[in-house]
Amino acid sequence: MEDKRELLKQPLHGIYIPIGLIIFGTLMFGYEYLPYSIGFIVVVCSTQLFFAYKRRSSMDKVKWQDFELVDKTIIAPMTTIYRFKLNRDDEVLDIPTGHHLACCFTINGKDEVRYYSPISNQFDAGFFDIMVKHYEHGVVTKRLAQVAEGQTVKFRGPFGKLDYKPNMAKELGLIAGGSGITPILQVITKIITSPDDTTKVKLVFANNSEKDILLRAEIDEIASRYPGFSVEYVLTTPSEDWTGSSGYVTKEIVEKFLPSPDPENKIFVCGPPEMKKSVAKITADLGYQKESVFFF
Ligand SMILES: Cc1cc2nc3c(=O)[nH]c(=O)nc-3n(C[C@H](O)[C@H](O)[C@H](O)COP(=O)(O)OP(=O)(O)OC[C@H]3O[C@@H](n4cnc5c(N)ncnc54)[C@H](O)[C@@H]3O)c2cc1C
Repeated sequence: MEDKRELLKQPLHGIYIPIGLIIFGTLMFGYEYLPYSIGFIVVVCSTQLFFAYKRRSSMDKVKWQDFELVDKTIIAPMTTIYRFKLNRDDEVLDIPTGHHLACCFTINGKDEVRYYSPISNQFDAGFFDIMVKHYEHGVVTKRLAQVAEGQTVKFRGPFGKLDYKPNMAKELGLIAGGSGITPILQVITKIITSPDDTTKVKLVFANNSEKDILLRAEIDEIASRYPGFSVEYVLTTPSEDWTGSSGYVTKEIVEKFLPSPDPENKIFVCGPPEMKKSVAKITADLGYQKESVFFF
């Protein structure tokens, strides 16, 4: 249920109505009360400005802000979840679904900017998480791995093109490759935590081998708890005992595990450029409308 006290944060209820009432009262009771009225108006405006300043988001679209690293968890041989502190303990990094942040390190005098899609959700207060796949020669990921807890990293944002709206599709097909799961996970989390969103979600998650499947336990748990969500893992180089799909994401896999090319259905894709190119061709061949397929 909506907290009615939240209404006071809106200019209408927090500023305009109280000021309107005091002006009305002054007109009614006489101009000799004007100095008191002005004093009251100054107090109301200053209080609202002070609280608005305190409530401001830690993240800015234009200005780089420093965020303290508070935790890092290695979840796979080359993948780490980094947790960064927000300004306030009750603040939530409520960015639009599927959007990302820019992260900047100044290396040898040059600003190196890379993008990361937070995996924390709208209920995680006081921090945000990014999941990063490390590359042996990756400029930023190598530097990020050296950051110790208590040190800060520069971020700004959010940025992104996806305009996700609840129930914008009857069935939503998601195709992720490797660390491309991060914005896809944001979409899944948004849907399963929004009771009004009844979208059926089908995920195809492609990786090299079983050990490369990021957040598999979390994804499997979602699949077991939410009947409207299903997942198919596809491995390029599976072990002999792998019983799931293998190879690349093919036409047959899209046909078998993703929603049909109905205009009411949509497909979101995030992965390496080669995978995106191949999926673009497959979906076009299968008859999906261009505007039904979104590439992160
Ligand atoms: C919108 C968006 C969201 C993203 N979200 C995430 C996310 O949530 N998590 C995540 O892990 N990544 C994400 N990425 C990718 C991320 O932004 C970086 O590209 C990635 O972390 C690699 O950065 P890097 O500086 O370490 O590697 P780079 O230095 O940019 O190198 C990338 C790759 O190229 C190789 N390479 C570099 N230089 C050379 C060279 N001279 N010759 C040959 N190969 C070379 C590296 O070894 C590595 O394999 C996202 C990207 C975008 C565009």
